[in-house]
Amino acid sequence: MEIPVSINDEKIIIKYSTSTGAEALQWLSPEQTADKQEPFLFTQSQAILARSWIPLQDSPGIRFTYTAEVTVPKGYLALMSAENPQKSNGTGVYHFKMDQPIPSYLMSLVAGKFDFTPIGNRTGVYAESSMIEKSKYEFQEMEDMLEIAEGIYGKYQWDRYDLIVLPPSFPFGGMENPRITFATPTIITGDRSLTSLVAHELAHSWSGNLVTNATWNDFWLNEGFTVYFEHRIMEALKGSDYAEMLSSLSLQGLQEEVESFMNEGKADDTKLKLNLEGRNPDDGVTTIAYDKGYFFLKYLEQNVGKEIFDSFLKEYFKEYAFKSNNTEAFLIYLDEHLFKNNGLKPVGDINEWVYGTGLPKSLPQVNSARFINVDNALNSWREDESLDAFHTELWSTHEWIHFIKNLPQDLSEESMIRLDELYGFTNSGNAEILGVWFVHCARHLYQPSFRAMTNFLTETGRRKFLMPIYTELSKSEEGKFLALKIYGHARPNYHFVASNSLDELLF
Ligand SMILES: [Zn+2]
Repeated sequence: MEIPVSINDEKIIIKYSTSTGAEALQWLSPEQTADKQEPFLFTQSQAILARSWIPLQDSPGIRFTYTAEVTVPKGYLALMSAENPQKSNGTGVYHFKMDQPIPSYLMSLVAGKFDFTPIGNRTGVYAESSMIEKSKYEFQEMEDMLEIAEGIYGKYQWDRYDLIVLPPSFPFGGMENPRITFATPTIITGDRSLTSLVAHELAHSWSGNLVTNATWNDFWLNEGFTVYFEHRIMEALKGSDYAEMLSSLSLQGLQEEVESFMNEGKADDTKLKLNLEGRNPDDGVTTIAYDKGYFFLKYLEQNVGKEIFDSFLKEYFKEYAFKSNNTEAFLIYLDEHLFKNNGLKPVGDINEWVYGTGLPKSLPQVNSARFINVDNALNSWREDESLDAFHTELWSTHEWIHFIKNLPQDLSEESMIRLDELYGFTNSGNAEILGVWFVHCARHLYQPSFRAMTNFLTETGRRKFLMPIYTELSKSEEGKFLALKIYGHARPNYHFVASNSLDELLF
């Protein structure tokens, strides 16, 4: 739509109403929530769905401040990426103000019945009543994370950092909406083992929200930096052996995706700098932006040392605060401020990292002692199906994920039954474990898992879990039949972002 303006026009008023079918909006019935009492609404604007509910210039290179008046049914609470209320005011009318300029993809709204509980002075959690205590426990480290992050890259610029636990149909792990991170309930395990996701969303308060990719082709500037920063926060919080496990999982995911892109003739999609012309920017949401981006930064860090690299990044976030940047401008900045100003010779293969396909030879090594131990356990399992010599009771979720992912591709049904008897994967309460285990189950059409797998696929809307399981199921005729049957029931529970990808896969 074009609105003609003359040189004297200072203000444009647009009267509009959005439709119930706006793709950013997910309207949930009470049954689709945790409490099962009241309906719920949330938005997902990234990458280009903000335009489906607000008429705005929907590009990450454009920022705005805003005020909003939102009316919801009495007794409901509404939150936005803005200064937020902490409890329902009885009238159902809320006023929001966002003074820090944000790009459109960070525009968000959530409405429903939920409570708030503080974690620290600047941090807190919103969740439905049945989830509030669990959430408070799970996210207890949030204030510490915030302090650690500030200690590395400078002052937090958004005043408060709060998080809301959404119903399970939320299609992502988290969404870094400023002042109100949206999070999936699938990271609530009761043992704080999946909170690196919070570190990730918090890290976006610097990389992404403060310094934003100018176009979706520069998406790695958002996500690569954020994965790097996430690992740094987790390293400070839980130690370097923990961070090394995260790196190793990043590397495995990256290698798998690069290989499959190469095999599918999509080599160009393995470049950090993407060319998404004529395509949906969601096509750029792959491990390349996240993990190849991360390893590029890790490579730079290893070349110049942590101290120099940290002060470079700190200065970069300051210089570009509340601005957008593209890859080319970043590389010029990098050359000047990381290398020249420190009297260092630039590393030779920056162009290969950014504009090359596949993975560069200088890909940093990952050495996770804890995963080497798991690799030994895998060998022992292959030999005699026993892990008695390994202290699996001390394993973290990440060790289990590594173990399950790397189990032999040709697991027999007896073997799977034995694994279930010993470790109860099929009935695990941990979504990450189910996410990798059900891929094996789908591959081998492992009957004893069907009920649990069907429930998982029906209740969880997180695309990261859905895609690999449905993909594996759809490889065989019987599996495809099952996939379509489950999808038939589950589809109404999924957000557009997830059902759109699954429609493509299954139809
Ligand atoms: Zn992210």
